[in-house]
Amino acid sequence: MDTQAVRTRLLMRREELQTRASRASADLRHESDPLSADFAEQVTQRESDDVLGAISESAQQELRLLQAALRRLEEGRYTTCAVCGEAIEEERLQAVPYTDRCRTCAEGTRRPPGSAPPRKG
Ligand SMILES: [Zn+2]
Repeated sequence: MDTQAVRTRLLMRREELQTRASRASADLRHESDPLSADFAEQVTQRESDDVLGAISESAQQELRLLQAALRRLEEGRYTTCAVCGEAIEEERLQAVPYTDRCRTCAEGTRRPPGSAPPRKG
């Protein structure tokens, strides 16, 4: 695992989201687009505010996940599953760079300890 490349990728994604989030909230404050005096026009503007609000919220949620992933990277825990302690599949980290659990734990298909099938013989 090339942690430097992962780090760069996470940082780039974080910057992208921060740009998107701050642009959305600037639009929400109508910095360059003051609320119209016309009522019908205001309704349209408020509808688009809802969309912008949603973008900003999901971007912020992903930002928190990215932040946590960067911290795990610093602490050398990035490729370790937070639930079972086993290594997270590399292709899974490629697909979901901010995940903190292996595929088995994410899907919830791991059997609890002690429930292994009885040995044959
Ligand atoms: Zn796991």
